[in-house]
Amino acid sequence: MNQDDVCGQGSDEDQFLYRLRHSLAHIMAQAVLELRPNAKLAFGPPVENGFYYDFDFGDAPLGESDLEDVENRMRRIIKAKQPFEQRWMPPEEAEQFLASRHQDYKIEYARELAATGRAGDQGLSFFSSGPFIDMCEGPHLAHTGEAPKGCFKLDRISGSYWRGDEKRPMLTRIYGLAFESQDALKDFLERRKLAMERDHRKLGEELDLFIQDQEVGVGLPMWMPNGAVIRDELEAWAREEEFKAGYQRVATPAITRGDLYRRSGHLPHYADSMYPPMPVDENDEYYLRPMNCPHHHKIYAARLRSYRDLPLRLAEYGHVYRYEKHGSLSGLLRVRAMCMNDAHIYCTPDQVESEFRAILGMYSHYYTHLRMGNFRVRLSLHDAREKYAANEAEWLRSEAIVRDVLDRMGVAYDEETGEAAFYGPKVDIQVKNLMGREETVSTCQLDFVMADRFDLAYVDKDGALKRPFIIHRAPLSTHERMISFLIEFYGGAFPTWMAPVQARIVPVNEEVMPYARELESALRDRLFRAEVDDTGESFNKKIRNAVTRKIPNIWIIGGKEAANRSVTWRRYCVKEQVTVPFEKALECLQTMRRDRVMDNFPDIPLPIA
Ligand SMILES: [Zn+2]
Ligand SMILES: [Zn+2]
Repeated sequence: MNQDDVCGQGSDEDQFLYRLRHSLAHIMAQAVLELRPNAKLAFGPPVENGFYYDFDFGDAPLGESDLEDVENRMRRIIKAKQPFEQRWMPPEEAEQFLASRHQDYKIEYARELAATGRAGDQGLSFFSSGPFIDMCEGPHLAHTGEAPKGCFKLDRISGSYWRGDEKRPMLTRIYGLAFESQDALKDFLERRKLAMERDHRKLGEELDLFIQDQEVGVGLPMWMPNGAVIRDELEAWAREEEFKAGYQRVATPAITRGDLYRRSGHLPHYADSMYPPMPVDENDEYYLRPMNCPHHHKIYAARLRSYRDLPLRLAEYGHVYRYEKHGSLSGLLRVRAMCMNDAHIYCTPDQVESEFRAILGMYSHYYTHLRMGNFRVRLSLHDAREKYAANEAEWLRSEAIVRDVLDRMGVAYDEETGEAAFYGPKVDIQVKNLMGREETVSTCQLDFVMADRFDLAYVDKDGALKRPFIIHRAPLSTHERMISFLIEFYGGAFPTWMAPVQARIVPVNEEVMPYARELESALRDRLFRAEVDDTGESFNKKIRNAVTRKIPNIWIIGGKEAANRSVTWRRYCVKEQVTVPFEKALECLQTMRRDRVMDNFPDIPLPIA
């Protein structure tokens, strides 16, 4: 490994950050050794957002309360402008040197580097800075004083096993955050705070959206009435958009015989993500389905299809079950049971482009409407691995088709190899969360493999049987993943059309209760999720409660409102309130629902004519 490899191909800023974080790990280790001279050092790499170092403190551990002391010492070391100087030692000399300092973990690593021929011609690389010396490849800053003022903060302490092996000693890992400037660090801390406040698991609990239950099982979220409303609204929207785009809905079962997956190739290609088979009847085994595709292919195959039937677009919000390791499960983002906005489009080769185009248009419509602007498009291609063992020419041909569509649509995208589905290239929508971490929210795939495997055909104009192309798409992702993103983007404040409670009517006193009830039933008759706050709490408390529940519309009813049949309308995200005649308010709410107005954003005005 040489220094260029360590650095990668990042921008100058990345390289500075990398060197800074690397250097701060050394600076922290030096400071820690001042406090605990007998501590043994393990690994101390730069990582995302900062750096860490693993220490073995023996029976003199360091705790969170010591971090401030360590930070102060680090600042002193930075002030001292200690130069980072590289030198090399032949493996034997290196080992002797490390032994003189009782650095057992480093000795083990030095031996491993030498034994595997990674020592380099000049020997093992060491960097000294002041009194501190560490076996390391670099790169670092020129001297410790290059670290910008206020650029770092020690964050937390955790345990970690030496070399990640639970049979080896448990070490103490000290994490530090480090950025190119004090402002950048401040910005990160603010974003992290916001992300914690908006964490979908936390808001999901506070807003009664979903629960998990140990007896039901991990990764198997259950939707509370409030969360079920959001799912239903998303699904209703998808149903409308798909109807307009010529889709037809189907419904298929969530378990199936293993033969189906042997035909599709999910067995063996996808076996790791599937649950073990269930023995059923005699000599038969069933699986929980990880995908809806094979069922839809069977529906296609059930009738003789003509070119006149194509494109055939089959849609289903389908329940699928995927095995995820216990450790990787996280809230709604990584789960074992999910419900997917799925559809499969069967089309002729010359329909591929227009279908792909229409689908990407649908993606763009959804994402723009939901204001999920922070995404990038990734074109995921095959690589040389065995799971892509179909014919190379077909891969190249279908990849070219997708690339061509993206180019012609003027969509900006990055290409990544090795991310394709096993049956074809895909376009992934990569969304960044508040912390800038990227996740695939949904994909659109061009499949040239399954039609063959399922012997799907259509009768073409010339009377010949031909293979259709299949496009798999799921623009609204799974309910679980999509809603986890929406909760965080919106901070739990949903627009009126999706909100579990669309309007709460708050009577100022008991006298206006009959009018409040009249409004409530007028709204409920029109299928609005409306309710009167009849708790008997103080007026201010009632308002506070509605705001805490992030209810988008509060209709305040006092004597004046009751007398002239109006409401005083207060929105969740806007300070000003307006008083409007009830009939007008009702009309306005209907428009908001019909047009799915994103009134959870303060720049969106109430559609009052
Ligand atoms: Zn280093
Ligand atoms: Zn599919």
